[in-house]
Amino acid sequence: MNPEKSLSSMHTHTIFCDGKDDVETMCRVAYEKELCIIGFSAHAPISRQIGKESGWNMKEDKVDQYVTEVLAAKERWKGKIDVFLGLEADYIKGIRSPLDTDITSLNLDYIIGSVHYLFPENGAEPFTVDGPAEEFEKGLKEGFNGDGDALMHCYYDAVTEMITMGGFDILGHVDIIKKNCNDKNYWSKENELSRQREIANLIKGKNSKSTNIIIEVNTGGLNRNKTIDVYPSVPFLQIIRECNIPVIITSDAHCAKHINGNYDVALNTLISLDFKEHYLFNSKINTIPVWQKIKLQKNI
Ligand SMILES: [Zn+2]
Ligand SMILES: [Zn+2]
Repeated sequence: MNPEKSLSSMHTHTIFCDGKDDVETMCRVAYEKELCIIGFSAHAPISRQIGKESGWNMKEDKVDQYVTEVLAAKERWKGKIDVFLGLEADYIKGIRSPLDTDITSLNLDYIIGSVHYLFPENGAEPFTVDGPAEEFEKGLKEGFNGDGDALMHCYYDAVTEMITMGGFDILGHVDIIKKNCNDKNYWSKENELSRQREIANLIKGKNSKSTNIIIEVNTGGLNRNKTIDVYPSVPFLQIIRECNIPVIITSDAHCAKHINGNYDVALNTLISLDFKEHYLFNSKINTIPVWQKIKLQKNI
């Protein structure tokens, strides 16, 4: 297989949520950039669960149209590029999960499971860990009394719970809390790494019982100049490799020009860490995703 043709873009957003381009434009640009697969992963609706519109999730009354448009694109682009229908589903303890029936009833090709929102236990206002820096700092101060370690543990607790519950195929931007912490030491990196090791071991254990969760190597932070490396960072990726957890390269594209943005960085990072392969989505058999192995090669 032509290496240029063995890359996909499975984490994409369109005007159905907070993206800038429509489904057709995203398909066309993915095809022009010689990707072999585009998957659509609109932010699943959340307003009913959190009691307000987030500004970045798809509105509930848009879901039917979203499904119809992506399925129509799947037909239209048949033979040129594979189009898959997915959602990026939030996990919020007791409030929202990829297992909610409004999501599972859609018969999606795949689901990305992500944690964006933290609901502090002290009742302070919920906030997103990947939102503007001011929102993050306010959340840290009011929700966690400025205790960065407590915030970090709260985030990884949510990720751990989501993995334990399951119902998703791709683990989304698993260390996204670093987005607002690039040059600051809000929490102990050592403690964070031990949480990441627990997460990798948890997935390894679940995958050994045929769950097949894949971790995305997400270039979204790089594409928007918010991070200096991919999600997950190198030390976490090393653990992922040691645990033999499959990885998929994604861009978290919110516009067509980012559809394969910084894929060279992701590929080079994986090669430098001695990953031997990355994966593409192939199909689902009895709710278990089938991933197609692509050998990593130097100089692509
Ligand atoms: Zn996300
Ligand atoms: Zn996303």
